Amino acid sequence: MTIYSHSRLSAFEQCPKKFKYKYLDKIKPEIEKTIETHLGSAVHKTLEWIYSNIKEINQDLKIDDIIVKYTEEWQKEFSENILIVKKQFTARDYFNKGVHFLIDYYSKHYPFKDGTIECEKRILIELDGEEYKIQGFIDRLVYNLETGEYEIHDYKTGNLLPKQEHFDKERQLALYSLAIKEIYGKDKEVLLVWHFLAHNKIIKSKRTNSQLENLKKETIELIKKVESTKEFPRNRSVLCNWCEYKNICFKEEREENFERNKKR
Ligand code: SF4
Repeated sequence: MTIYSHSRLSAFEQCPKKFKYKYLDKIKPEIEKTIETHLGSAVHKTLEWIYSNIKEINQDLKIDDIIVKYTEEWQKEFSENILIVKKQFTARDYFNKGVHFLIDYYSKHYPFKDGTIECEKRILIELDGEEYKIQGFIDRLVYNLETGEYEIHDYKTGNLLPKQEHFDKERQLALYSLAIKEIYGKDKEVLLVWHFLAHNKIIKSKRTNSQLENLKKETIELIKKVESTKEFPRNRSVLCNWCEYKNICFKEEREENFERNKKR
């Protein structure tokens, strides 16, 4: 039995070849990480720090304290080998982006007393008894006393802001809501909340129990497809520029073309 994750399934959907390199061949990528990943990680860790410590931190948590923490997180994992695809920007530009995200977030959410239960909550979803399981981490789980709803919060640091329809069909947080209903009761309402930090915007969505049952079935079908797949074609797109296997993939393709041409 393999425990799946949303990112594992997404990798398969986005590019089967990348999925193979990463999850089947377990090839160590040449690129350590991209600057976007680094930014996302530093911002996530800072927000986790705020909410995990909010009970101990005094009410006057200042934006300066948050920026100091963010700077520490940024520096801890920073290296000159981080890939910057958009050459018109420097690492400093990305660092400053994070500062802006946190200033906006602070203005909107201070004093951060919204009923947060847990950050980085690990969840395991049983889709079909013991056979198919999905694990994931919820950025932040909230119990909203005013509405009586559980809320699954997710932070996004990318520039892309899809339309509402995308969120009404989105898989990751919907799967996590299955786990929350398992823990707290199927009758509980679960609100899915995305924070698009680059846009200072919050998007919300909900699922009915019957939509969640369908999602379970669709996810099991997808896992079965992944497990029965024998061919892993490349899916070339603009995302290749950010792919950690780009060099391996392009080299392999050149060699395949060379061999093919030789046989002609
Ligand atoms: S470079 Fe592109 S085609 Fe190759 S594995 Fe990565 S995403 Fe897939």
